[in-house]
Amino acid sequence: MYLFCRWRLLLPQATIDMTRPTHALINWSNFRQNYQLAKSKAPGSAYAVIKADGYGHGMVRCARALGDADGFAVACVDEGLLLRQAGIKRPVLVLQGAYDADEWQIASAHNLQLVVHHAQQLVERELATLENPVDVWLKINSGMNRLGIRATEAEPLMALINDDDNLELTHVMTHFADADLAQPEAFSAAIEIMKAQDWSLPLSVSNSAATMTQLAAELEGDGSVSRPGIMLYGSSPLATQSATDLGLKCVMTLKSQVIHVHDVKAGEKVGYGGDWTAEKDSRIAVVAIGYGDGYPRQAPSGTPILVEGHRCSLVGRVSMDMITVDISEYADIQVGSEVELWGENIDVDEIARLCNTIAYELFCQLTPRVKRVAAEG
Ligand SMILES: *Cc1c(COP(=O)(O)O)cnc(C)c1O
Repeated sequence: MYLFCRWRLLLPQATIDMTRPTHALINWSNFRQNYQLAKSKAPGSAYAVIKADGYGHGMVRCARALGDADGFAVACVDEGLLLRQAGIKRPVLVLQGAYDADEWQIASAHNLQLVVHHAQQLVERELATLENPVDVWLKINSGMNRLGIRATEAEPLMALINDDDNLELTHVMTHFADADLAQPEAFSAAIEIMKAQDWSLPLSVSNSAATMTQLAAELEGDGSVSRPGIMLYGSSPLATQSATDLGLKCVMTLKSQVIHVHDVKAGEKVGYGGDWTAEKDSRIAVVAIGYGDGYPRQAPSGTPILVEGHRCSLVGRVSMDMITVDISEYADIQVGSEVELWGENIDVDEIARLCNTIAYELFCQLTPRVKRVAAEG
C-alpha cells in the first residue's frame, strides 16, 4: 500500500498538457451557423441532436455552444443526465425513452422529456413514483420498423398517457427510414402514414435530410419540432448534394503532423502486408494518426490526405498509430508539416464514401486520444 502511494506521487499530474500533434479542431461558430440554417428550414422549433457525445464532437461542449437552442435530443437517459449535471437547463428529449422504472424516476427528477415507443415502457412507468410530471413524445413507426408503434395502434397508448396525471403527452413523432430519398416511395408512404390520422398534437418528424429537402413540410407547423443531427456537424445528409452545395459549414477539421520522411525505391513495398508497392522511386511521409485515433482502417491507398496544403495520397495500410503518405511531388514537405485528414479542405463525406461508410461513423469512432480543440470563433 505504502509503495503504491509512493508510485502515484511519481506519476505525471493529469494537468500536464498532452503534446501529440493529433487533434480535432472544432469550429463552434460554424456549428451555430449550421443550427441556424436548420432552424430557418423548418417552421417550428429545432432540437439539436447531440447524442453519442455530440457525434464525437463533445456533447456538453455542443450544448454549451448552442446555449439558446430550442432544445437538445440525446439517445438515452444517461446522456440526458450528463447534460443536467453539466448545468444545461434547456429542454432535453431522450430518443429511446426510459428503459425501466428507475429511468422514469431519474427523468422526472431531472426534467428530461421521454419518448414512448412501446407499451412496456408504460408498464415500467407504473412501477415508478414520479417527483414531477414528465413530458412524453409518442413515437410512431412510419416504416423503419425499428422503434415506434403502428399509427393504427396509437389510440389506446394515447389514452393511457392522457389518463396519467404525471404524464403530459406533448408531441407525436416519427423517424423516417428514407428521408435521404434513397427510396422515394418509402418516404412518401411514411408521410401518408403520418397524415392518415388527426393527431391533434404538434408533430416532430424531420431529421437533417428531411429538414434540407423540406419534403415533410405538409406535416409541420408552428408547433412542430425538427431534430437535425448530422447537418449541424457540417456533413451532408443527402447523397446527391455536398455539404457546400447545401450551405453547410465545416465544423471538425482532423489534423496531425508528419513525424518522419524517407525515400523508397521503385518496387519496394510500404506498410503491413506490403499492400502498396512504389511504381517509381518515391518519398514517403509518416503521419501520427491511425485507427487507434479512429482514422478508418478501411481507408484505401489513394485516399486524399492534405499535407502542407498539397493533396497527397495515402499509401499502404492504416496502422494503429500511423499512416504513410506518398509525398513524391512536393519537396517542401518535411517533419513537422501540417496534415489534414478531413475538414476545411477535405470533405469528410468524400473520405466516408472511400471507406464505404458515412460521416456519422467517422465522427463517432474518433477515440479519446484525439484532443478536441476549439478553433478561433
Ligand atoms: C439520430 C436521430 C436524429 C438525427 O438524425 P440526423 O440524420 O443525424 O439528422 C433524429 N431523430 C432521431 C429519432 C434520431 O435517432
